[in-house]
Amino acid sequence: MNKRRILIVGGGTAGWLTAAYLAKALRLAERSHLDVTVLESPDIGVVGVGEGTFPTIRSTLQFLGIDEGRFIRETSATLKQGIRFADWGHAPAGGERHQFFHPFEAPFYAEGINLVPYWLLQNAAARLPFAQALTIQQRVADAQRAPKRAHEAPYAAPLNYAYHFDATKLAGLLADHARQLGVRHLEGTVTEVALDASGAIAHLGTPQHGRFEADLFIDCTGFRAELIGRALGSRFTSVRGQLFADRALACKLPTDPQDTAMQSCTIATAHEAGWTWEIGLNGARGVGCVYSSDHIGDDRAADILRRYVGAGSGEDLAIRSVPFAPGYREQQWVKNCVAVGLSAGFLEPLESTGLVLIEAAVGMIAEMLPHSGPMAAPARRFNELMTARFENIINFLKLHYCLSGRQEPFWRDNAARTSIPDRLAELLEEWRLRPPGRFDFVLDTETFAFFNYQYILYGMGFSTELGAARDDFPQVDEATRLFAKIQRFADRALADLPSHRALVQHFNAQR
Ligand code: FAD
Repeated sequence: MNKRRILIVGGGTAGWLTAAYLAKALRLAERSHLDVTVLESPDIGVVGVGEGTFPTIRSTLQFLGIDEGRFIRETSATLKQGIRFADWGHAPAGGERHQFFHPFEAPFYAEGINLVPYWLLQNAAARLPFAQALTIQQRVADAQRAPKRAHEAPYAAPLNYAYHFDATKLAGLLADHARQLGVRHLEGTVTEVALDASGAIAHLGTPQHGRFEADLFIDCTGFRAELIGRALGSRFTSVRGQLFADRALACKLPTDPQDTAMQSCTIATAHEAGWTWEIGLNGARGVGCVYSSDHIGDDRAADILRRYVGAGSGEDLAIRSVPFAPGYREQQWVKNCVAVGLSAGFLEPLESTGLVLIEAAVGMIAEMLPHSGPMAAPARRFNELMTARFENIINFLKLHYCLSGRQEPFWRDNAARTSIPDRLAELLEEWRLRPPGRFDFVLDTETFAFFNYQYILYGMGFSTELGAARDDFPQVDEATRLFAKIQRFADRALADLPSHRALVQHFNAQR
């Protein structure tokens, strides 16, 4: 039998996650006719950012067979229960700040009653914030409690969660694991990509190892997009007209795990031309300022970052600048080459969609890769699904920006109808009269479900006017009882769950 060769170019998170996933899914260790190689440049570094994740990462790590405790220890991980947004609805004024929480838990649904309309019909001035009224997770995260107890099964918990971790350490752990699963690792820089008469890749050339031929080339070369972009010329679709952020300044500050608060959520604080992320790791704090270079300059962004971390003007802060072009390629799989990770596209750091897109892509490749024969049909399907996924994420991210009442030029431009995708504008019109529902989305290509939209809409103060339909919602007493039950559950969870710090320490004490 001919050897089937998959060559992954790039050893960042995308390259190693793809390698480990394919090795596991295709049972590489048991199949001598299959070869999976990661070719990584010793001279070109990894992007080294990307510390926040989405709950899908748990099933991915579990599928790969990585022990949860080992993962937490080796990547300085903490547990993430959602995102706390500050100053997005309006700029701080007179000591008043707008805040809301986007938890991973879906809104509580029991006894056949959808509580969302009942929340919408409550007195807006007196009701609890949406996330607090409909889940217990906001109170758990606010109190810095963990989403699970130490004895709970790996990757399982009463509350949905993801992680924060050190991106470079994660790539290292995945590399180690992929090698154990039989993946070959070579250091070499691709300096030549030769195409055949059909436009497919014939071979790659490296000074270190000469030529590489393969049945499938996976481009994980990050923003350089050496194969899919430079060699194959797959067009890049910019979405800068909708999502304005195109730069980030990132820094990492050491913290004392014994002393500092250990948040189990990302903190996303809006500023005049973007937002700042704060991610608590075990022993460090990752902070980054995301901004639009059309609206503020690099110096101003550095000031915002410094002010955020409380650094004095003379204080030395190791700040990295990471420019990016928001957008994606509609053709991510061309002939015998498929792009995964930043080479396929990147929108912006908000809501941590980088890794989730890698997981989606590699899951599809593992399932759709034909055992033999032409790749045109799976490539077409893959491209359709990934395009839909990117488009849906663009809508979801834009939702965070276009509803703001902030008055700085960046925010006013974000609220301009011309910058809002038509599909989102159409949905916003509908949501004025009813809350988002599950038939608004085609679930297979969705990263975010209708309830994620609900958290953002109602967290941002969007109004769905149900007053005229009040009679359609007669179960007010039952709903009131259920709202009270949620708060009782939250009280109990606060008593039962350990502190986030204690759980992280528990994992770190294990060997
Ligand atoms: P890289 O890490 O850039 O790796 C590229 C690899 O390709 C390197 O190993 C390099 O050596 C190799 N290479 C390049 N050229 C060649 C060549 N010619 N020959 C051989 N090898 C080559 N995602 C999240 O999920 N959560 C977040 O919170 C998040 N925050 C982000 C914040 C910012 C500012 C940015 C820019 C991204 C963020 N992301 C986030 C996205 C995340 O960082 C990436 O999805 C992830 O790191 C994968 O990167 P990559 O492997 O595609 O590219």
